[in-house]
Amino acid sequence: MIPALKSNAKPTPLTADFLAELRLRGFEGDITHSHSDRTVFATDNSIYQLSPQAIVFPRNETDVVRIAKLAGEPNFRALKLTPRGGGTGTNGQSLTDGVAVDLSRHMNAILEINLEEGWALVQAGVVKDQLNAAVAAHNLFFAPELSPSNRATIGGMIATDASGQGSVLHGKTRDHVFALNAVLLDGTLWHSHPLESPQLEAEKLRSDRVGRVLRVLDRIRQDDAQMIEEHFPRLNRCVTGYDLVHLCDCQGRFDMNSVLCGAEGSLAFITQAKVRLTRAPRFSALLSIRYESFDAALRDAGALMRLEAASIETVDATVLGLARQDAIWLKVREFFPDDSQGPAQGVNIVEFIADKQVQLEDKLSRVRAALSDGSAGRFGFTVTHDAIAIAAIWSMRKKSVGLLGNMQGERRPMPFVEDTVVPPEHLADYIMEFRHALDKRGLVYGMFGHVDAGCLHVRPAIDMKDPAQEALVREISDEVFALTRKYHGVLWGEHGKGFRSEYAPEFFGPLYPRMQEIKAAFDPYNQLNPGKIAAPPGHDLTRLDSVPTRGQFDRQIPISVRKENQDSLHCNGNAACFNFDPDDAMCPSWKATRDRRHSPKGRASLMREWLRLMASQAVDPSAASSSGWIDMPRRALNTLRSMRRGGDGDFSHEVKAAMDGCLSCKSCVGQCPIKVDVPSFRARFLQAYYSRYLRPIRDGVIGRLESALPLMSRLAHLTNALMHGPLGRVITRGLGLTALPALDTLDLWGEASQRGVKLATPEALRALSESQRQRSVVVVQDAFTTHYDTRVVLDFCELLQRLGFEPWLSSYMPNGKPQHVLGLLGTFVKTAQHQAAMLRKLAEAGVDLIGVDPSMTLTYRAEYIKALGRDKVPRVALVQEWLAERLEHLPKLPQQDEQSWSLLPHCTERTNAPASMDDWTRVAERLGVKMQIVPSGCCGMAGLYGHERAHRSTSEAIYRLSWGLKLANPANARQTLATGYSCRCQVKLMDGTQLLHPVQILLHAIKRASNLSTGITFSA
Ligand SMILES: Cc1cc2nc3c(=O)[nH]c(=O)nc-3n(C[C@H](O)[C@H](O)[C@H](O)COP(=O)(O)OP(=O)(O)OC[C@H]3O[C@@H](n4cnc5c(N)ncnc54)[C@H](O)[C@@H]3O)c2cc1C
Ligand code: SF4
Ligand code: SF4
Repeated sequence: MIPALKSNAKPTPLTADFLAELRLRGFEGDITHSHSDRTVFATDNSIYQLSPQAIVFPRNETDVVRIAKLAGEPNFRALKLTPRGGGTGTNGQSLTDGVAVDLSRHMNAILEINLEEGWALVQAGVVKDQLNAAVAAHNLFFAPELSPSNRATIGGMIATDASGQGSVLHGKTRDHVFALNAVLLDGTLWHSHPLESPQLEAEKLRSDRVGRVLRVLDRIRQDDAQMIEEHFPRLNRCVTGYDLVHLCDCQGRFDMNSVLCGAEGSLAFITQAKVRLTRAPRFSALLSIRYESFDAALRDAGALMRLEAASIETVDATVLGLARQDAIWLKVREFFPDDSQGPAQGVNIVEFIADKQVQLEDKLSRVRAALSDGSAGRFGFTVTHDAIAIAAIWSMRKKSVGLLGNMQGERRPMPFVEDTVVPPEHLADYIMEFRHALDKRGLVYGMFGHVDAGCLHVRPAIDMKDPAQEALVREISDEVFALTRKYHGVLWGEHGKGFRSEYAPEFFGPLYPRMQEIKAAFDPYNQLNPGKIAAPPGHDLTRLDSVPTRGQFDRQIPISVRKENQDSLHCNGNAACFNFDPDDAMCPSWKATRDRRHSPKGRASLMREWLRLMASQAVDPSAASSSGWIDMPRRALNTLRSMRRGGDGDFSHEVKAAMDGCLSCKSCVGQCPIKVDVPSFRARFLQAYYSRYLRPIRDGVIGRLESALPLMSRLAHLTNALMHGPLGRVITRGLGLTALPALDTLDLWGEASQRGVKLATPEALRALSESQRQRSVVVVQDAFTTHYDTRVVLDFCELLQRLGFEPWLSSYMPNGKPQHVLGLLGTFVKTAQHQAAMLRKLAEAGVDLIGVDPSMTLTYRAEYIKALGRDKVPRVALVQEWLAERLEHLPKLPQQDEQSWSLLPHCTERTNAPASMDDWTRVAERLGVKMQIVPSGCCGMAGLYGHERAHRSTSEAIYRLSWGLKLANPANARQTLATGYSCRCQVKLMDGTQLLHPVQILLHAIKRASNLSTGITFSA
């Protein structure tokens, strides 16, 4: 039995007083200081881990004013506040041991879009891609680019003056800001926009903090112009913190936004921004040039820029190698073919744009001519004009950091010198010295970045759990800082300073005291994100090795426990799971709740903390997870204690709440670049949790349901009447379940045998002749389709027959997925052993196996192999995989009509078997059916989740985010197909539409081609 863990939810008295007073002043947002929230907000994408005292989530601008005003009062001058957006910083920018102010949860609305004037007014928490999606139809976009564009907020981008691919053309975020609403620490709301001289003089007379700030800034601008000129780097990527060079805009107006952009939340809260929308280029082409060495790729950049490239991105062989192992490779591999000289050691991805096709072609013909001589270490190149291919190649480049993070072993790429910039003409020489610094320490690293802007991303692989390796952070940072100085560059070229601000005094020399003055004018008591960018006189900047690192926490967990928990411990906080896009499968529970505990990162962070607390009590949870009847009274007692008012304060309850919100959809497993696997560690956690507390009766019922279904199905009419009658409803409610589907009353065996489908036994299959065996295939039954959607199984068998194959039905046996989801791991292993043994015997007879329901089928590939070992589990193909493998043997049917089908795949299938998505369209095309895979999120059902009363409303909210919008129009619904039983069930519940499985449409096509009655009516 695992022990109770003390939950550490108590903030300091000062913070507690502040939070209480804030509520009294009418604060409308959320406030939390729970151990779980503090844990989740203790990390970003950096090496650091710093737990805030509390997190507040303002609901609106007035709330932010309330926070700032109260914090500015004398009683709270020791209180620290740090604004937070998407939390994607790589150097601890948003980390604090004070109060984190999250502007992303509630303040994320696009307030106005002015197409004519080309601007948008957004709240600070709007995500960059969210804005781009809103204006894409008008061929506009918010131009400053950054890799995590699907999760970084515009507030965070402004505060770090973000930029990325295309910065030579488009500049940085600052260049696209027209006006900001900034809340200062006395509670003043300042609408910051360029001021003409008379306006500036008038505003300088103000008696509030704005007046003081303007006076200081204007004096520095005038008195120190010479020093500013000398000490600010002349680089495209000069993220400096307070940008004094641009205090006057190009029209000579005074613009305070230049210091607010890049201030990393150390001067004010940004609540709203009016930003420029840029017209997207009409025509573009992407070249992927392969090189014999990375150095050759870097040195070629100058020549490519002279050919009028809009942007050049570089990727080295390490990153390319990791991309080859990722799902993204399927979409881009044709653009990176193998060369006779060997694998490319570096690649330049070069973009050319133009407003007219003829201009683009003109540029490209010059480029082709220049590249055709094979000099400069070039192996060859590919060109594409296809928008989908271009997006896929950029997406591979954007994924680079994540891909690097997926290096195997304990040494993982660490960000601390990952965004240095030097003048592009020095880049190759600088990188040679940089590499030497890493090579001499025997470090492995990958490199990629914006070669056009002289910015390379380098993350040396370090095991931060090892104190000796951790010490390298200081050593390497000092050495690389000196190197950047030597080459007239900066250490913080792209991602801002964060805890690297300690180098600012040396970097700015005599100008640093001016920055201190600016900080003091905005924030005299050093309350706003203190220790970063600049400290007021009398205060210090934080030293980068004085902040606790994740490694220091993780090393408290014994090595044996770490080994078993790789699937959570390696989360590096890159935040790909905070993807805003409703039509992307990644984490439905996060999208519906916007509570970061309910995300893969949140759950992984909580698991890490839980393992650490267990270790502090010398407990290995997997060894302590067993439970039996004998300790039932103790579990009952623990459960009762936990139900008392105020609970028992066990941190495990907080972790359990986060795990409960997970749908086990497995999108994280497929899409997290680090392969964080929430369903696996969730199952282990639940097993351990219920060694201490009583399991709900529901778990026992659901865990046995698959076994009970054959009997229930035999009496389907009676079971349905009972289940949906008054008594059944009371029982269902008592079990915490809802919206249960009715059993299918079709008799699968009766119907199948009438169609000549036989029971698959090893003996019968072994007795087949070779040619019969070639044509035969076993359809593996699963609980969902066999008992709730029998028609789909029958139609699939008929489809196989009409395609000339001989389908056999396996005996029905439980698959065990629900047991795994509930963390009944011992029972699951037994179930899996039985099922795998049966499947092995069938497969050994030399006949292929196919599963109809994707999520059940994919369980054999993941959970079964983990539990039993690869050699114990035969391959069970997905329907489309098996058919696509036989494409040449399928009849080639002409397209019969113009009707086009939209397929919404199950999200487990979409994310864990991405290659099989194309299989559907290829098979459909062969059989004369137009079918396209539609981007979509999760349907919200995910097996059990949507049938739990506690989750029903979230399940419906998830549905409405993506599926609901696509199916709202009955005409669309009539042309939509779904592979997952859960998904079809959810659509029926929500919209009353019975969607078909794609095999039913394929069958329909074959029957029509043979002039047979199809038996299918297309009604919504
Ligand atoms: C995988 C990966 C790739 C990256 N690639 C790039 C890249 O290509 N280009 C690039 O520029 N950056 C990149 N970054 C760094 C990071 O994404 C950017 O710095 C981004 O702008 C941060 O936005 P955010 O919303 O996550 O802000 P957060 O990380 O939450 O905060 C960043 C800073 O902004 C402050 N802040 C946030 N919101 C506000 C507000 N409303 N008012 C005042 N201050 C605020 C915070 O206090 C903090 O100091 C990358 C990060 C990751 C993880
Ligand atoms: S769970 Fe994966 S995607 Fe999310 S932050 Fe962790 S590593 Fe990144
Ligand atoms: S399984 Fe699905 S719901 Fe659960 S954490 Fe992963 S993506 Fe989110």
